[in-house]
Amino acid sequence: MSTAADTSVTVPGPVLELNGVNVTFTSGIGRKRRVLHAMRDVSLSVSPGETLGVVGESGSGKSTTGAVSLGLRAPDSGAARLLGRPLNRATKKALRGSIQAVLQHPQWSLNPRRRVGESVREPLAVVGHGLSRAEQRERVVQILERVGLAADMVDRFPHELSGGQRQRVSVARALITEPKFIVFDEAVSALDVSVQMQILAMIRELQNQHHFGAMFISHDLGAVRRVSDRISVLYRGEIVETAETEFFFTAPQHPYSQQLLETL
Ligand code: ADP
Ligand code: MG
Repeated sequence: MSTAADTSVTVPGPVLELNGVNVTFTSGIGRKRRVLHAMRDVSLSVSPGETLGVVGESGSGKSTTGAVSLGLRAPDSGAARLLGRPLNRATKKALRGSIQAVLQHPQWSLNPRRRVGESVREPLAVVGHGLSRAEQRERVVQILERVGLAADMVDRFPHELSGGQRQRVSVARALITEPKFIVFDEAVSALDVSVQMQILAMIRELQNQHHFGAMFISHDLGAVRRVSDRISVLYRGEIVETAETEFFFTAPQHPYSQQLLETL
């Protein structure tokens, strides 16, 4: 891409680092008060150009880990560093556009009354790349092409697209600010298997071109295997194993990982 920041510039060190992160949720009052440990002493890192897969059963703390990694939830204790900076209000503002998310249901992230072109362009307005309206429009068309969508998609509304096309739009929307780090949370889980394969291949290809670091969260081990360089297994809020993808699938070390793989 010729405009805006040069994505080939690599960030020295990890794009994301979590160190001993704890997150608890409390519910009820008095004797009914319960404390739920959504993340327990979670440490992980993601390098530029790398995808870390995060797997685990429902309720294991995957989305909470994603939210902390995006700076959307502050840890109760422990630290999160994004692009080498501690996460606080000041750095969060500076990091806008450098971190993006692609979530499970594009209908939640895409405004149903907004045309595709507008939805994809929107993050640029927030980041203020200093591009003119014409340049922004041109960039929208370029990025749509990158995710395999024709230029005439800009005038469509989300309900006029297939699930796979909507998810491609979400990826385009995430990519347009040329982020250094993207969190995918169950991003392909709602799609048919054949469409999943196409989107996963596309994510891989885009990563080769743009070198963003990624966290790929899914309960679907097959999907995670296709995109991840390394995998972390969450069990009740705790990382029980982190391993290179192929090593993990051939020789899982932790009993819980072995159990997860048996259900595959
Ligand atoms: P996963 O994405 O792996 O399914 P989550 O990170 O969404 O898991 O949730 C981890 C645990 O924290 C679950 O038990 C969930 O019910 C709880 N939890 C998540 N978000 C909240 C919240 N906002 N308030 C209370 N409990 C929550
Ligand atoms: Mg989740």
